[in-house]
Amino acid sequence: MKLDVNALRYLSKDDFRVLTAVEMGQKNHELVPLELIDSISGLKHGGAFKSIKTLMRHKLLHHDSKYYDGYRLTYMGYDFLAIRALVSRGHISGVGRQIGVGKESDIFEVTNDDGEVFALKLHRLGRTSFRAVKSKRDYLGRRQNYSWLYLSRLAALKEYAFMKALYEHGFPVPQAIDNNRHAVLMGLVNARPMVQIRAMAHPARVYLSCMDLISRLAAKGLIHCDFNEFNLLINEDEELTLIDFPQMVSITHANAEELFTRDVECIIRFFSKKIGYVPEQDKSLPYVRPAFADVAAAAAAAAAADGEGVLDVALEASGFQRQHQKVLEEYLAEVVEAGEDGDSGGEEGEEESEEEVTAEGHLEAERRVANREAGGKEDGEEEGGGGGTSGRE
Ligand code: ADP
Ligand code: MG
Repeated sequence: MKLDVNALRYLSKDDFRVLTAVEMGQKNHELVPLELIDSISGLKHGGAFKSIKTLMRHKLLHHDSKYYDGYRLTYMGYDFLAIRALVSRGHISGVGRQIGVGKESDIFEVTNDDGEVFALKLHRLGRTSFRAVKSKRDYLGRRQNYSWLYLSRLAALKEYAFMKALYEHGFPVPQAIDNNRHAVLMGLVNARPMVQIRAMAHPARVYLSCMDLISRLAAKGLIHCDFNEFNLLINEDEELTLIDFPQMVSITHANAEELFTRDVECIIRFFSKKIGYVPEQDKSLPYVRPAFADVAAAAAAAAAADGEGVLDVALEASGFQRQHQKVLEEYLAEVVEAGEDGDSGGEEGEEESEEEVTAEGHLEAERRVANREAGGKEDGEEEGGGGGTSGRE
């Protein structure tokens, strides 16, 4: 998707006031009626309507009158609110080229006033599967209807919290810099996704660093759950950086062993099939697979020693709560269910174009779905859902 930040400069204070009013209204309205926008924004003499027209022209708001008349934010509208917050905190001053497109995120290069470059990840949970998820949910008639704003915000909050904690514990992850709404600002890594690599100077060494990374995470009580060549960046010296954390789970998760094994097997498959290095045939390796029992024991010992694991500390500090984790896991499980129906339409009325999702984005998306299918349903069958949170915050 294109992010035309030039419009940022043309928008007035009132325009942002109205945009924020719509965001607030969406906490309990799918569409926010004009009268409510009027009263939240507090603008007089039809001021809100004038701004609405400007915001619509810039595709920041969407107007809908199918069931009742109202407005809601587009992805870009939400992007603008997050970017404006990061700008006003002095963390960024310009948005540059797009460097990544995932199924559920867009990543841009951004700069600050000192000319430093960072990566900005904008989460888009529900971009390709929201309609499918929603219709299935309606059909089942028992799920909460979470908005993409809420889900994307949760994913960003979780990703930021984990990235920060992992970075502070010396893990090779980007430096977490800031989080607002569905946006995560992080250090830009000068490396390529490992999926683009076909030959390695030292495959055994890289393979072992993958296994070491999986084991060290587990020893801290964490399983990545998407540990694969798409989420590992590799630099010229064949050093790794791990990215993409919204799906991480605790080692105490009911399916922990399966999820752990799936991460390990993904890497073995990649090295065997794409790099031409078969770990099982390398007699010089100290081990091929880390044993789950060993890392689980290490995690339990560490938890007993310092009271809490990385997970709990990180989550507590960020305000991310257990019920949020449940919401995310439920969503991820539902995306798999919905994916099985083969429907992947965008959110209705949204001006997203599928051709802007690169082949690679699709590849990873397919891979994720395949992985999840292979790896169990992750709480997808629970009744009721929602863990007590209200659907739209
Ligand atoms: P998704 O959740 O959509 O898969 P990722 O976090 O995996 O998003 O990022 C998608 C792509 O964006 C990566 O494969 C990588 O090419 C690029 N990318 C993400 N974060 C960074 C970063 N900090 N530095 C450099 N490139 C990045
Ligand atoms: Mg990814």
